[in-house]
Amino acid sequence: MTQKRDYYEVLGVGRNASEGDITGAFRSLARKYHPDKNPDDSEAEKKFKEVQEAYAILSNQEERRKYDTFGHGGPGSSPFGPGGFQGVNISLDDLFGGGFDGIFNQFFGSSRGRRRAKGDDLMYRHTVPFQVAMDGSEEEIEIEVMRQCKDCQGRGSRDPSGVRICPNCEGRGRIERVERMGPFTQRAVSDCPSCNGNGKLITDPCVSCKGQGRSNQAKRVKFTIPPGISSGVRLRMRGYGGAPKEDNGTTGDLYIEIEIQRHPWFERDSADLLMGLPVGFSDLALGAKIDIPHIDGENLQIKIDAGSQPGDTIEIRGRGLPMQGSKRRGSVMIVLKLDMPAKLSRNEKKRISSMSDILGSDPDSIEERIREEATKRRN
Ligand SMILES: [Zn+2]
Ligand SMILES: [Zn+2]
Repeated sequence: MTQKRDYYEVLGVGRNASEGDITGAFRSLARKYHPDKNPDDSEAEKKFKEVQEAYAILSNQEERRKYDTFGHGGPGSSPFGPGGFQGVNISLDDLFGGGFDGIFNQFFGSSRGRRRAKGDDLMYRHTVPFQVAMDGSEEEIEIEVMRQCKDCQGRGSRDPSGVRICPNCEGRGRIERVERMGPFTQRAVSDCPSCNGNGKLITDPCVSCKGQGRSNQAKRVKFTIPPGISSGVRLRMRGYGGAPKEDNGTTGDLYIEIEIQRHPWFERDSADLLMGLPVGFSDLALGAKIDIPHIDGENLQIKIDAGSQPGDTIEIRGRGLPMQGSKRRGSVMIVLKLDMPAKLSRNEKKRISSMSDILGSDPDSIEERIREEATKRRN
């Protein structure tokens, strides 16, 4: 057996060639070796076929990736089927236009057929309160999904004897046409027109599903949300999607995208919870203890040290959200904010003014204090 040439070499392009490069190279080589231009030249005929095969693979993203990885000796049988590449009938006119993509794509039509055997995947969004991120929960939703028809058990026929194997495609649902033009054969696969690709004919269609064997049904689905879940996570429920069109196909999957409602004050950074705590001047200056209700059911006790500054952060470890896949919990991070009274009465202004030696800024030392602030900030 002669060594098979590298597909890139056959087309005379580099391994990084763009789709356009590949099509351009194919077009000019195919024109050069076309049988109409080289009558009774078996060498040109061989080249023409070789160029076609290289193009068929390199112009198909999936096949090109496989070829780049494995070369000619890839796993599985030849992508062109057991007979190997047979060549296609392509006219010189096709080469001048661009209408040859479809001719090559049909080679890999069989893989498209396989994919069709799976039922539809479904996606549902489901919104839960913030508390669910803490505790997890058992949820239930109702979905609309294509399921096997209950009235006919998926047969599509009112009576089991009303189903016949389609004689046109012998139950395969697809028909293959082989066209021979000169030395080339062209294989075209399409859905069987007699049975619409189902492979069977229904003479006595079921009323509920109109002979489809499947119908849209409401279905309740129960699922578990684990503690610590984040917004945007998609839970996959294998086999809860649409029923397959064909008897031997697999049922699709259901994806549930979880959206978590906002907490009134917490922001979230994975398992950590962030919040701002507005406090008064004296709380920062003298220190304070503040209790607030918390999502784990026990109050959060926040201790502010005397001499704290606005913007200081207090971390309480182990009181954040559960970390997924572990027993540990994140932290609660509390940023101290100085809460200035918005409106002061005349009397209050008087009292504050009387303490301006503590609460106000001393004009004599202002430059020094600006310097100190800058030094602290820059560290
Ligand atoms: Zn039915
Ligand atoms: Zn048929």
